[in-house]
Parts: sequence; C-alpha cells; structure tokens
Amino acid sequence: MKIVDATLEQDVTFANEMEKVRADFPVLKLEVNGKPLIYLDSAASSQMPQPVIDRLVYYQTSQHANVHRGVHYLSETATSEYEGARQKVQHFVNAREDREIIFTSGTTDAINLVMHGYGRKFIKADDEIILTTLEHHSNIVPWQMLAQETGAKIRVVPVNDAGELLVDEYEKFFNQRTKFVGLIHVSNALGTINPVKKMIALAHMHGVPVLVDGAQAAPHMKIDVQDLDCDFYVFSAHKLCGPTGVGMLYGKASLLESMQPFKGGGEMIATVTFEKTTYNTIPHKFEAGTPPIAAAIGFGAAIDYLLTIGIDEIHAYEMELLHYATELINELSGVHVIGTAASKTSVLSFVVDGIHPHDIGTLLNQEGIAVRTGHHCAQPLMQRFKIPATSRASFAFYNNRSEVEAFIAGIYSVQKFFSR
Ligand code: PMP
Repeated sequence: MKIVDATLEQDVTFANEMEKVRADFPVLKLEVNGKPLIYLDSAASSQMPQPVIDRLVYYQTSQHANVHRGVHYLSETATSEYEGARQKVQHFVNAREDREIIFTSGTTDAINLVMHGYGRKFIKADDEIILTTLEHHSNIVPWQMLAQETGAKIRVVPVNDAGELLVDEYEKFFNQRTKFVGLIHVSNALGTINPVKKMIALAHMHGVPVLVDGAQAAPHMKIDVQDLDCDFYVFSAHKLCGPTGVGMLYGKASLLESMQPFKGGGEMIATVTFEKTTYNTIPHKFEAGTPPIAAAIGFGAAIDYLLTIGIDEIHAYEMELLHYATELINELSGVHVIGTAASKTSVLSFVVDGIHPHDIGTLLNQEGIAVRTGHHCAQPLMQRFKIPATSRASFAFYNNRSEVEAFIAGIYSVQKFFSR
C-alpha cells in the first residue's frame, strides 16, 4: 500500500495551530491496547477539552444550586449561569431571541418534544409528513409513532447512489395534505450535507413547517437559523465537545407558543389548581422539572471553546483531513466508500470486500483506533444501499494526518490478516 504524501496543498501554519489544540484534550494521552488512542468516533460523541471540564468542576464546586426558585446567592448564581448558557446557544445559532432556545436532554428528546408539542396538536389522519432516507432513527420513530396514533402518512425522499437527496422528487411530494417536514442537515452515516435552505424554502412555498436535525451539522459548520429560516432546529451538546444529557431545540417563538407542553410538572406552570393548570411562557413551558443545569453550563463552555478556535477554521481543517483520508482509502483495493456526495462533512463510511464491519472495528481497536461499526441508527439507509452495516471513521479538529495514515494502515493490516 502506498501512502500518498501531501497531494493536497496544506497550510502548515494552520495545521500546526490545530496540532496545539490536541493538548487541550486529556483523553488523547490515553493508551489503548498499548497503543496511543486514535479517536475516530467523534460523530457518535466528541471528546471534551480541559476548559469545558474545568468549567463543570467550577460549577459543581462553587456555583451549584437549583435554578429559578431561590433568592439565595447560589440559586441566583446558578440561574444566571444557566440562562447565560441559553444566550450562548442563542448566539451560536443566531436565533432572534433567547426564549426560542429550549434546553432538552439531547437531539432525540428535542424531536420528541416537537412531535408531542406540535405534531399531536396539529397533525391529523391522512395528513402527510415528509422525511428522508438519510434520517437517523430519532427523526423517524417519533413521527412513525405519531402516524400510528393519528393515521397520518409518512413519505420518504429517496437518495441517489452517492447518498444525495433527490430534491426534485421531494418537490413533487407536496400537496394539500402535507403538514410537516423532518430533514437531517448532515447525515451521520454518510456525511452528506443536504441543501436544507433550499428544501426549507420549498416547504414554505406550501406553508409547511420544517424541523432540521442538526446533530451532525452544528459541530462542523456555522448554523444560522434565521438565514435557513427553519421552524425548528435541534442538536446535542455531546457532539460538540460538551457534556452528555443536554441538547437544544430552537423553535420560532410563534410556533413554540402555539404548541402544547410535552412534559408536565414544576417550572412549566404559571398557576395550578386541582381543576386547571395554566402554563408558563416559553422557554419554561417546555422545561418541566429541574433542568440539566451543570450540563447546560458545560454546553455554553463548549460553545465558547469552539468559537475561540473558529467554526470556519474547524470546518476547513476537517475537510483537509477528510480529503486526505478519502484519497488514501481509495488507494486500497477491495475497499468501497459509502457516501460520495459532492458536499460532505468529515465522515468516512466504508465496506471492505469479504470482511464484516464488526471485525474491522475489533481489529482496529487492537491498534488503539476507535471507529464505529454498525447501522449507525440509520437502518432504512443501510437497506437503500443493500448493506447491513458499514465501518465509519469520523474526523474532528483534534485529529491529525498521522492518525489518518495509521487508520489507513490499520485497514490494510486487517485485509492482510484476513487474506492469510
Ligand atoms: N440525529 C443525528 C443525525 C445523530 O447523529 C444523532 C446521534 N447519533 C442523533 C440524531 C441522536 O442524538 P442523541 O443521541 O444525542 O439524542
């Protein structure tokens, strides 16, 4: 196997800057099976840098109390930090107002909130919901549950062999019965970046609201919900260097106000009697109970951290890694990249002739290399490509070219192992 050297123009200074970033991630000093960890599973969950860890420790040691309920120092501090985190998320996605940001437990929770809050109120029998073949299960199953309950129908936008959505087909789906569109911004399984702005505009021509699943977009590119004009946008903190257990739902204020609450309990109410409850204003109407305070503050710290590096810089660097890895993997015979869209993030899904993805993952792990194998919570997409699973390497800004080379050499060794 030939390792192609620097076929792409690389800005050395830029790469050196990104190399320094690695020192922020304590986990990258880990050894796995006696080898330095090479973490290529950031699309499943990214690693956490020291400033975010420090922020969590500081909160727990000096600022923790329940929010919105106390008049004492710690409660007021926790409340202002928690609400400050909401404003950081608001600016990160360029939402008009901070009340348009709801803290959820993650992407899945946010989609379920919209399904219950919007879907169960406004979608009825024979209405149609448009989804795409690229969706993650979390943007399929809630809508299927709604369809079962109401008698609504789901229509699915197909993809071509490169893993790109057929937007012409999508356009033809709209009719009087179309009531909702659920659209993945970036495919977690293939990396395809979808033309969501155009697809949102098409839906709006028919008066149909659109939810965008941005779980794989927010860590890699600038998100501007006003520019996209999406009605809902969702993602999780743990994929952008933040903690697990928190994510966000952006919703246009008028839509959020029109929706019914998802969960009932403390905080989401204005008044309660045994006869009747009136609800709090947004965003609190959708944040019943004690929220993930520490995690939300960590989410804010993760946003601060990413912004000090620069989202455009992250994107450009990750693209270089992707192109380098794609070029190298294409040198290997018997290895096939699944997902060759013209517009992609740093996800490289592949299958190897005669070797099960699970075996690839297991053998790479022996070399300290972490990749994901399986259906990536996108079984309909795997069915479309007539494969049960892929192996997937996902590159983050804290990876580098020598890790890419080790990964490619690892696949080559796996092939050698199986050809003995
Ligand atoms: N959508 C996409 C595109 C994802 O990649 C994921 C996580 N794999 C999810 C939704 C679900 O995110 P979470 O598990 O954090 O709710």
